[in-house]
Amino acid sequence: MRKITTFLLLFIAFSCSTNNEIRGISLKAPLSENIDNFLKFTSNVLAPDGVNTIIFNIGWNYEFKSFPELTGPDALSESDIKKIVKHCKSLGIEIIPKVSMLGHQSTLIRNNKGIAVKTKMHPLLENYPEFDENPEVKLPEKYEWPNKDGLYTKSYCPLHPKVHDVVLSILDELVNVFEAKTLHAGMDEVFYIGNDNCIRCSGKSKSELYANEVNLIHSFLKKRNVQLMIWGDRMIDGKETGLGMWEASENDTYGSIDLIDKDVIVADWHYRKATNTHDYFIEKGFRVLTCPHNNKEVAKTQYDQYKNHKSENYLGMVQTIWLTNQEFIDFYNGKIKIESGKKGSLETYKELVSLWKK
Ligand SMILES: [Zn+2]
Repeated sequence: MRKITTFLLLFIAFSCSTNNEIRGISLKAPLSENIDNFLKFTSNVLAPDGVNTIIFNIGWNYEFKSFPELTGPDALSESDIKKIVKHCKSLGIEIIPKVSMLGHQSTLIRNNKGIAVKTKMHPLLENYPEFDENPEVKLPEKYEWPNKDGLYTKSYCPLHPKVHDVVLSILDELVNVFEAKTLHAGMDEVFYIGNDNCIRCSGKSKSELYANEVNLIHSFLKKRNVQLMIWGDRMIDGKETGLGMWEASENDTYGSIDLIDKDVIVADWHYRKATNTHDYFIEKGFRVLTCPHNNKEVAKTQYDQYKNHKSENYLGMVQTIWLTNQEFIDFYNGKIKIESGKKGSLETYKELVSLWKK
């Protein structure tokens, strides 16, 4: 009976989908022992809710064969990934693997109120410290923001002569194991770029450094018939728009919008209020997705903007969920409470689903 119900719900969900609208969520990869819970959740909740795309934050948590030393602490195996991809494909859900290039080469560890208190290097710079754009900045024992170094997360130097031998191999492996048609390379919140102390980058235009790295990755993927998706914040002028240094750029990278290949898909995230930045990206020739997070009113306004828009380059919406995979499932099922700002994720998800089903 449950199977028939699921089938019916799937049928209704697909019937309501009148075009190729992307109805997505961005989720962290599950731990290996929780994969079956995740698969059940995709069958019983996500697919019937009409979700057709998952940006799957695998990061470094894959058992890489080309550079095994870069395998993260919660790595999934090749067979784990194949199982997930096959299952999601059977439900009509496209998986877009995501690993952060350029920035986010270290991570912040937060307390239960969502405050960052520690910081930790990701495997790339842990194993190849020579790729660090700002080696003079050491990760502190105790992290706090703001800090004198302006340290949010680390970046690799895009002009280091060896860095692409490594990162492009990593992307190649992910594309292959996920059978990906699109890969998300992050590239958001890159605060460390064009460091004055870097012998290669010092004095160079930050917009050019940023755009060149995006275009290099884009060309590499294009040869494999894979599309590149990135977050949009570095291409927006944070001062002019008043959007600030996080969801837009205050470190001179926004000129990159005119240098980046127009085939790159922009995931335009705005959590606090709806913006018109989708128009800006579309006018510049990009395809764009809007990404809410934890505020259902913002998500509703953004969805109205999407529905009332006529451009076929406006692809849809992807909600970013920054809880762990299992936390989101447990939160959905009422098994845990969330105290941080992420608690709005669930009602935002439910709001989007209700809008998708209208
Ligand atoms: Zn550099």
